[in-house]
Amino acid sequence: MLDQYEPVIGLEIHAELLTESKMFCGCRVVAADVEPEPNTAVCPVCLGMPGMLPVINRRAVEFALRVALALNCTVQPRNVFARKNYFYPDLPKGYQISQYELPIGRYGWLDITLPGGETKRIGVRRVHMEEDTGKLTHLEAGGSLVDYNRSGVPLLEIVSEPDIRSGEEARAYAARIRQILRYLEVNSGDMEKGVLRVEPNISIRPRGSASYGTRIELKNLNSFRALAEGTEFELRRQAALLDGGGRVVQETRGWHDARRETFSQRLKEEAEDYRYFVEPDLPPLHIDEAWIEAVRAALPELPQAREARYVETFGLTPYEAGVLADDRRVAEWYDAAVAAGGQPKALANWILNDLFRLLNERGRRIEEIPLAPGALVELLRLVDEGAINVTTGRDVLAEMVDGGREPREIVAARGLGQISDEAALTALIDQIIADNPGPLASYRGGKESLLGWFVGQVMRATRGQANPALVNELVRRQLGVK
Ligand code: ADP
Ligand code: MG
Ligand code: ZN
Repeated sequence: MLDQYEPVIGLEIHAELLTESKMFCGCRVVAADVEPEPNTAVCPVCLGMPGMLPVINRRAVEFALRVALALNCTVQPRNVFARKNYFYPDLPKGYQISQYELPIGRYGWLDITLPGGETKRIGVRRVHMEEDTGKLTHLEAGGSLVDYNRSGVPLLEIVSEPDIRSGEEARAYAARIRQILRYLEVNSGDMEKGVLRVEPNISIRPRGSASYGTRIELKNLNSFRALAEGTEFELRRQAALLDGGGRVVQETRGWHDARRETFSQRLKEEAEDYRYFVEPDLPPLHIDEAWIEAVRAALPELPQAREARYVETFGLTPYEAGVLADDRRVAEWYDAAVAAGGQPKALANWILNDLFRLLNERGRRIEEIPLAPGALVELLRLVDEGAINVTTGRDVLAEMVDGGREPREIVAARGLGQISDEAALTALIDQIIADNPGPLASYRGGKESLLGWFVGQVMRATRGQANPALVNELVRRQLGVK
């Protein structure tokens, strides 16, 4: 059904910027997870009182610059703000200050990784600065409430080229953008709280066609799953429409999360007339080369570059590299551990398997625990040297995560050193064999799996501290295995 059509998808992503104050006034930006009294973080500027003048937040421009550069955009040296006029109660001024003809970033791109592992480049048409609107709450009994705490919060809009061809690609692109925003520390990436809003424009066209079909814009997607599913649903709906001789109407549709389907929200009037014009209250904003270069130089190594480095220089699998590079704090911690002399592959294993489990159990983030990267390196050295075995190593790690003590200290204080004393272990094994005539008889009768049982008894008797390879060898010897 969909086979004869080519999906054409472009994403508009709105990201609230994590600045301390709003875009054009000194009001504080209230974090999305705090629920302050409505209309307490407001002033005459963000309430749109006549005669009030906006002042550009330099920090917001810097954040926008970070994103534009990270997305490979050409930065506009002369930025102009524009008024986007429309009437709706969430917008007290009757217009939103945005950027129109001269956005801060243009002609960018982002590479996404598809499930098969191949890479695809998606064009980034523009990155522009604007201000968020207030929030309306419609009451069941009728009437609406409005909260202007969010009014004037710096907002970045990232618009892709219509290069995306499936729900899966849309998800991969949006996830990369989110990851980069988090790396740049300009947005928390919380789609559920609405600080990151992803809106795909979706159309289909007959394969081989040079022109685009009519598109719809999909809203209220509050997760990546909803983005992928909603997009796929919409592609199927449009194909069925065209197959049935109908046509797609240009409109804004919503995603019904429970019913897993899209529904019409409002028709888009032929040309939405926002009567854009240059914001007369703000002068053009010049971004000089020195500022651009300073921001560029301060960018962190981005996730994709990190992943490639981990695979190429450290020999990690793409999966391991992806997980370690996903969160900037984890990646920096890992890099610090390698710099402290750790073996990259072994460190990756311990972090992904053991440290992540411990963090999960404790509900903590890596930057919140007292474990220093060098201390993990030290622990792995103890395991490597045979001073402790792997099982003990895991116990020690848990204690390090909680208490921040050095591994050698913990091993010494708790007497956890690995037992490799051959004579002592042999005596213990003989004792265990003598104490268990039943299993011994079964073993002699041919039940060879009992060899492992005897090894287990020795490990238990030594509380896991015996050198497992040595115990294995000695048990075989004492049982007379050749
Ligand atoms: P608007 O100003 O109406 O939002 P834009 O031209 O800025 O429209 O495009 C918004 C988004 O829609 C962009 O991501 C763009 O790539 C995408 N887009 C444009 N035309 C189509 C189309 N025919 N099908 C799917 N996406 C499209
Ligand atoms: Mg649009
Ligand atoms: Zn204000």
